[in-house]
Amino acid sequence: MLSRTIKEVSLAFREGRISPTELCRKCLDRIKKTQHLNAYITVTEELALQQAQQAEARLLKGSPRGPLDGIPFAVKDNFSTENIKTTCASRMLADYTPPYNATVVQKLLDQGAVLMGKTNMDEFAMGAGSTDGVFGPVKNPWSYAAPYRERTGASPDSDWVISGGSSGGSAAAVASLTSYLALGSDTGGSTRNPGALCGVVALKPTYGLLSRHGLIPLVNSMDVPGILTRSVSDAAVVLGILQGRDIQDSTTVSTPAPLTELPEDFDVKNICVGIPKEYHAPGLSEETRAHWSRVADLFERAGARVEQVSLPHTQHSIVCYHVLCCAEVASNMARFDGLEYGHRSQADSSTEAMYASTRHEGFNDVVRGRILCGNYYLLKKNYQHYFVKAQKVRRLIADDFRRAFGSGVDVLLTPTTLSDAARYRHFVQEDNRARSSQEDVFTQCANMAGLPAVSVPTALSRRGLPISLQLIGPALRDGELLRVAQWVEQRVGFPSIGDCEDSRESGDETGVAGTERTSAA
Ligand code: GLN
Repeated sequence: MLSRTIKEVSLAFREGRISPTELCRKCLDRIKKTQHLNAYITVTEELALQQAQQAEARLLKGSPRGPLDGIPFAVKDNFSTENIKTTCASRMLADYTPPYNATVVQKLLDQGAVLMGKTNMDEFAMGAGSTDGVFGPVKNPWSYAAPYRERTGASPDSDWVISGGSSGGSAAAVASLTSYLALGSDTGGSTRNPGALCGVVALKPTYGLLSRHGLIPLVNSMDVPGILTRSVSDAAVVLGILQGRDIQDSTTVSTPAPLTELPEDFDVKNICVGIPKEYHAPGLSEETRAHWSRVADLFERAGARVEQVSLPHTQHSIVCYHVLCCAEVASNMARFDGLEYGHRSQADSSTEAMYASTRHEGFNDVVRGRILCGNYYLLKKNYQHYFVKAQKVRRLIADDFRRAFGSGVDVLLTPTTLSDAARYRHFVQEDNRARSSQEDVFTQCANMAGLPAVSVPTALSRRGLPISLQLIGPALRDGELLRVAQWVEQRVGFPSIGDCEDSRESGDETGVAGTERTSAA
């Protein structure tokens, strides 16, 4: 049951094959068994059991609230949760307990979903590895699965691979079968990147479709809540529930929400799939490139038109993102001053000294570095040259997409990441700035243009790790995008980690011992 999808579990509830409380206990057990992954910062065990019992009572009365009633979910630790610590994996907020729920969290709770806990991440969501949080790095569950162990002979204890980031805990929670759905945040790729590396479906909806109220901001003009699930149709169900105008977030859209009902059989015959030529980027692994073109061939063989397109300003996206991100970070982080909430330094020789040491003690060097850069770009003498110029480049990037979609392309097919997951030891050799700039090359543009994008796991690499591809669509066409994503999902047959797990190691009933699948595509 643990490796099933939301749809399957929901049916099992209704048929009485398992109860929400039994399932919740199984997930809690599994969280304990997979503690070494470091996916959760806080496990809300008591609350989860309470919520599961309430869901069970509703089911017994024959009045479940909907498809998520009784379904275990996890939330990245930068979404506010009432009476539950929300740390952003930072010393600054290590003891912060919000008095309210983020809108998207509240919507899931209103549907009867069961909160298992808050997940680990890079500090304030700045990073692409989940290696830069105060609670330590998140390990990718596939490091412990049979394919990686058998194909590389690696010892997971010393050669484990990163989960990706910054929502690594959320992706690992879904991939390691402790939650059926998790919320991540996506500013430059932070939901899609870890989703891709952990082998789960990761959706970054159109900017404005989901409320950001209660999501602790990184870059307000690019942040969106992200959805991590085990199947595309589960992502569609969750999107349908979370989307919509919120009076607490003035950037939410009031246009009719996209349809999220996915047909079982979708015909790609009449669609046009664009392959951006600039995405043949330096650092793209040969394996990922070959896999990308295999999936493009699948489309072609099914009768879709596959066309090369050009997004010429892609080459500027990393620098442009860096300037805009740092500028907004500098302004957003100003609120953490030791007075209102969060960490306060003991240095009290003057108010200025207290501010300075609070911020020095509270933030890691990645956050401090971005604040410094941002304040520099926003200096009066630099403003035009950096910030205004970056805004103009951002417009050009958005125009590239508009042109591509305007010329008849329905969806763009790209890799999500440059390669499969790196070993932790290799990943941390480079600094955060250099790493982020490489890792996010395929994901950041969609944030700058506000477009929906979804990452779908499509194959296991030679090392036995997930490789995923990304589909990007026009704004507010999230439903159509998911239909195409489901088509890909159905064609590639990506294995569940439950089927690949070495059950000698985990000692539970989720998997078939040592089953090894090869790349299906
Ligand atoms: N890796 C990018 C950064 O560090 C994206 C982060 C995100 O999407 N939250 O800024």
